[in-house]
Amino acid sequence: MDLHLNADDLNSCVQCGLCLPHCPTFRVTGDETMSPRGRIALMRHVQDNDAPVTDEVIDAFASCVQCRGCEPACPSSVPYGHLMEQTRETLVDAGKMTPAWQQVALKPLGSPKLLRTGTAALAIANKIGLVPKRLGLPNDLPIRQDPLVASGDDVWMFTGCVMDAWQRDVHQATQRVIEAAGFGVRPTSDLAPCCGALQSHAGMGGESRKLAAQVMRALGDKPILVNSAGCGAAMKDYGHLLGTAEAKAFSARVFDISEFLADHVDKLPTVPQLDLRVAVQDPCHLRHVQRVHQATRTMLAPFVRELVELDDDGLCCGAGGAYSVLQPELAGQIRDRKVAVIERHTPDVVASANPGCSMHLAQAGVKTVHPMSLIDEALSTSDAMEI
Ligand code: SF4
Ligand code: SF4
Repeated sequence: MDLHLNADDLNSCVQCGLCLPHCPTFRVTGDETMSPRGRIALMRHVQDNDAPVTDEVIDAFASCVQCRGCEPACPSSVPYGHLMEQTRETLVDAGKMTPAWQQVALKPLGSPKLLRTGTAALAIANKIGLVPKRLGLPNDLPIRQDPLVASGDDVWMFTGCVMDAWQRDVHQATQRVIEAAGFGVRPTSDLAPCCGALQSHAGMGGESRKLAAQVMRALGDKPILVNSAGCGAAMKDYGHLLGTAEAKAFSARVFDISEFLADHVDKLPTVPQLDLRVAVQDPCHLRHVQRVHQATRTMLAPFVRELVELDDDGLCCGAGGAYSVLQPELAGQIRDRKVAVIERHTPDVVASANPGCSMHLAQAGVKTVHPMSLIDEALSTSDAMEI
């Protein structure tokens, strides 16, 4: 079967295995087919040797978190994430992956009103115990939220789909921090409802390209600041996804929120630090894909008493967008390892710049907060002194 993978990309893997220790699914299973090297070998067997796409092969592909922890470890620069996305898209188009119900479940992400209504209904159902615990919904899902109000036109603040419906308080905090640095903010809200990351991970390439084109049409000129690592990574990849010069130029305007503000941190007021020992959890799409995770530390350092580095080399927490729902057993095993590392470092709180990671870790009892929420708290609970 032709998976439509670029032969040079596929053949760039020299099967050295240096990526194996960085792969969360290999770490918890010890199974070669659950490793980057094993999955690439399967892609080759299917594409080059017309090997049958058995249930085992599908399992190997579906069990990948798409964390891309394997990419920075690879001496041959194998573009693993793109190989996996294309593999899934081909298999979805052939009706072999991502069943119809999963595709339907992702549809509301591009319809903000539907998503808000659904969130309110879910919040009520969750409060009265009608939602199964294994789905891992946050206990504090909002029933109603205050709208975001533009304060100027210096930058876009991308608000996205689930994060805007479930964690608008993080957007409000983020907006206040951007404004404190002297920038007028225009929230993207319903103009650009969804970046298409989850659809792309699910192999729904057509849907993700449609959403990407919608986002690009809506957001002209200004820098686009993103406080969700997964969304930022997806939007920085529009050049590859759409393959146009326009998309490449658009992606060049996309910045993770800390990446952008780290160049302006001296414009923020000097305030007393929060009396907190904060562990930084690097979301995979910030560390392994965008590779701008140091900026989170630059931003947090002036505002908290102590930053703690987790010594697991940025290993995935197992959230992976919808992965924790679709692969709950593996996601739980991967998270157990992360939680053990966090507990060993005894932080007061964990800072995570990705809503999926923070919800997944919170479900295991880890106290998580977005870095921008911490900075906003420091700025708002002290008598700020302008430098
Ligand atoms: S993306 Fe993550 S889970 Fe998938 S093969 Fe690479 S390291 Fe393993
Ligand atoms: S993906 Fe890279 S690190 Fe992993 S086996 Fe292939 S060449 Fe080696």
